[in-house]
Order: sequence, then structure tokens, then C-alpha cells
Amino acid sequence: MAEALRLEGLTVRYGDHTAVADVSLEMEAGTIGCLLGPSGCGKTTALRTIAGFERPDAGRVLLQGREVAGPAASIPPEHRRVGMVFQDLALFPHLSVADNIAFGLPRGAARRRERVDELLALVGLPGAGPRYPHHLSGGQQQRVAIARALAPEPAILLLDEPFSSLDVALREQLPRELRGILQAAGITALLVTHDQTEAFAMADRVGVMSGGALCQWDTPYNLYHRPATPFVADFVGLGVRLPGTVLAHGKVETELGLLEGAVPSDCPMGRQVDVLVRPDDIILDPDGQGTAQVEERVFRGADYLYTLRLPGGSRLLSLAPSHNAYAVGTRVTVRPDLDHLVLFPRDGGPACA
Ligand code: ATP
Repeated sequence: MAEALRLEGLTVRYGDHTAVADVSLEMEAGTIGCLLGPSGCGKTTALRTIAGFERPDAGRVLLQGREVAGPAASIPPEHRRVGMVFQDLALFPHLSVADNIAFGLPRGAARRRERVDELLALVGLPGAGPRYPHHLSGGQQQRVAIARALAPEPAILLLDEPFSSLDVALREQLPRELRGILQAAGITALLVTHDQTEAFAMADRVGVMSGGALCQWDTPYNLYHRPATPFVADFVGLGVRLPGTVLAHGKVETELGLLEGAVPSDCPMGRQVDVLVRPDDIILDPDGQGTAQVEERVFRGADYLYTLRLPGGSRLLSLAPSHNAYAVGTRVTVRPDLDHLVLFPRDGGPACA
């Protein structure tokens, strides 16, 4: 597979504030990546540096193997073959949909009309060319913005919070649709979001950022099931970290009893750890005999999210289908169902996962 994007030790500072700190990653052509993290973690700055609107203070940006920013080069944005979709979409209100899309094409380009029609078909809006942006729904406007960014056939499409101005229903549906469009056309794309659901629905690889640093660049599955740091574990999905002691390979003593599951051999016996326990790792048995108690429950539609209190005082989360509702105060037996253990050493060393 050809390499589409590579960041090497990318660092960007504003005065003495480091917005992007030594970020390295690689993306293969035709894949979708995502930078995910809380507000201010440096996602947008990283994206703007790839596009060429910011200059790195250290490190390099390579697009299709060519250095576009770094010690050896500083290629201006218009010569990077990068397409950009902004949060506010930035469509021209006085231009028709067709003219908005054609705006991205070189003047006098042959097959201009055909290319606009092709792009409208790609984004699922055939025949919408003569309409104006204000005639379209938020989701349709977003597709026009994507078609415009794709018009000049960029090597990579960069999207900054592309769903944030849309209503909740569309935010559920559009990431999946957009993934289908990009995959069908074999387009490499990197998006920025603070929303984990969007990141997981869209991307092949997601990078979780914190304080300018990239904590983990991995598949959505690994971020959820094998997070590299407590920050990633907390930012991606729900869960608690239960104190424990490693007794033997794959066995950890906790307040929940002996937890067993596959663990790499580099987690030595006797080590004090925190064990990641996700709500889907915990099965409830409301036998009235159990020692855990339902402290709170939140209805989420398909399931309830229960907060349970263990006799020693620790709390656990559990998800259970909402057709069996257990009242607050119910005594339950808690059955852990972990196929592997994610252990964070208490001395701050790297996770054993
Ligand atoms: P958000 O989701 O809120 O957009 P973000 O993760 O995209 O956040 P950035 O916009 O990249 O974060 O900002 C990273 C840090 O750099 C923040 O602390 C921000 O205040 C700072 N910053 C961003 N742009 C500038 C600028 N032009 N001048 C000075 N500081 C800036």
C-alpha cells in the first residue's frame, strides 16, 4: 500500500505554548484517519499544519512521500494537493451548488460540467446543481462542501469537525454515509473531532491527542479494548479502573475477586495495578444474594447503564438490556467477563494490554 501521509516529530508552538508536541503517524492511501481529543488538545493545529496554514517548529510533514513542510521544504497550501472541509462548510451563498463545486476546479478545465455532475452523483445529490445552498438541508450542504473539496482531486481530504453544525439525527447518520462515499472513491481522508462515536464510525485509524501529544494511533477496536494509557481508556468509552495486585500470569486479585484473562508476560508478579473494567465486561445477576448494590441507573434506550457499589466501596459500571430493569438498591451478583486484562501499573509505567 502506498503511503499518503506521514508526520515525523511534528511540533508547532504559539509563543511559548506547544500546541502540537512531537506527533508522528503514518496513513496509507485510501484509508480514513481521525484525530480525536478534547478541546484545545491540538487537533486543529495539526490539521492546519498538514494543509500548510501553519508552519512546524520542528519535524516534517510528508504527503505521498514528498516533504511539504520541514527543514527541506515549505510548500504553500495551494500546491500541496490537499482538500479542506471546514466546520462552518463555507459555501458561497450567492453561487449555485454547481458553481460552488466548480469553484474548486482549475479555470477552463476540460469536462468541467461532467466533473461537477460526477461529484454530485458521488455525494448522492444528482440533479442538485442549479439549486442554491440555502435550498438545501444541513446534511446536503455538507455533501456539497465535500464535493467542492474533492473537485480538484486532492491527494488527501482534511475535515475539521465536519459534523459539528448538524443536528443529532444527522450526526448519527452522516459519518457512516461519508465513510461509504470516501471508500467507494478510494479517497484518503483525515478528520478532526472531539466525538468518539463519529471517530469510530468514520475512521480506520484514530489518534487520541492530549496536551498536544499523540497518546495512541490505532484501530478503533484497539483504542477501546487495548488502550495504551489511562487517559485513552477514560476518553474512549466508559469504564472504571479497579485497584489490584498481579498474583500470577493472567491473574489479578481485586475487590471483585480474582480476575483472569490473557495478559502479556511483561507484567511481573506482585505489581500494583489498576485493571480497566468496561461496562460490557460486567454481567449482573439480580439474585438478591449478591454483595454489590445498584446505586444508580440511567436509561439509554436499548440498555440501562448501572452504577454498582461493591462492599469495599469501589464502584463499577455495567450495561444490561433495558427489558430487565433492576431498581436502585437491588442486591446483585457481579460476574466479570473479561477475555483479556488491561492493566495500568500504579507506578505509571506503560500499560500491559
Ligand atoms: P478545539 O476542538 O477547541 O478546536 P483543538 O484540539 O483543535 O481544539 P487547537 O485549536 O489546535 O486545539 O489549539 C491547541 C492549543 O493552541 C490551544 O491551547 C489553543 O488555545 C492554542 N492556539 C490555537 N491557535 C492559536 C493561535 N493562532 N495563537 C495562539 N494560540 C493558539
